[in-house]
Amino acid sequence: MWKVKLLYEGLIERSVWGDVLRACSTITYLTDGTEHILVDIGHPSHAMMVLGPLRQVGLTPETITKVVITHIHRDHVGNRDAFVNARFYVHEKEGSEYISVFDPQKEDGRLEVVKGDDIQLDNGLKLIHTPGHSWGSMSLVVEGFELSTLKEEVCTMEDGVLVIAGDAVPNHGNIQKDIAPLFRVDKTACHSSLARIREMADVVITGHQGYLVLKKEKQ
Ligand SMILES: [Zn+2]
Repeated sequence: MWKVKLLYEGLIERSVWGDVLRACSTITYLTDGTEHILVDIGHPSHAMMVLGPLRQVGLTPETITKVVITHIHRDHVGNRDAFVNARFYVHEKEGSEYISVFDPQKEDGRLEVVKGDDIQLDNGLKLIHTPGHSWGSMSLVVEGFELSTLKEEVCTMEDGVLVIAGDAVPNHGNIQKDIAPLFRVDKTACHSSLARIREMADVVITGHQGYLVLKKEKQ
């Protein structure tokens, strides 16, 4: 079973006109005792949002073995140089954009370009393609998990499904009220991705607003 810790709940601040003033993704850590995985690593100017909590749970950036980037917007890809031993996973549908952020020449063979949908990452972990916010948005599906934040134990669901959705679900309201993300490339794809995640997830970790329990713990 995967131990999942929400290291940072994310933030998004908008002006009264709706422009984004400040944004940083949620940052999630998972381990099965062997692998040490991060999903999204925040904004480059918010280094302590990831490095501080990692230290709090007794880890260093060098410990991290894999980093899943749900999509390559700037507020999700920060400080990757700190993770010197990690492999980075980015979906190919992010297209040539990922090259500007993840230069294959400098990647030292550590960039994994994910193709298609429903890809096994590890035992009980798979990547699904959830486009709409961007073309290459992907979510990490965790089958069997124990979820906590830095402050509290949230839930343990041995047979439950946790979806770490990035900006396929930026905030709670998007999945609760079926609202497509404000920033998007395709509204229909956004709704399909929301429906797919709602169908499978017991708990979702959003892109910018911590976690949300969708279904009760199974007895
Ligand atoms: Zn985004």
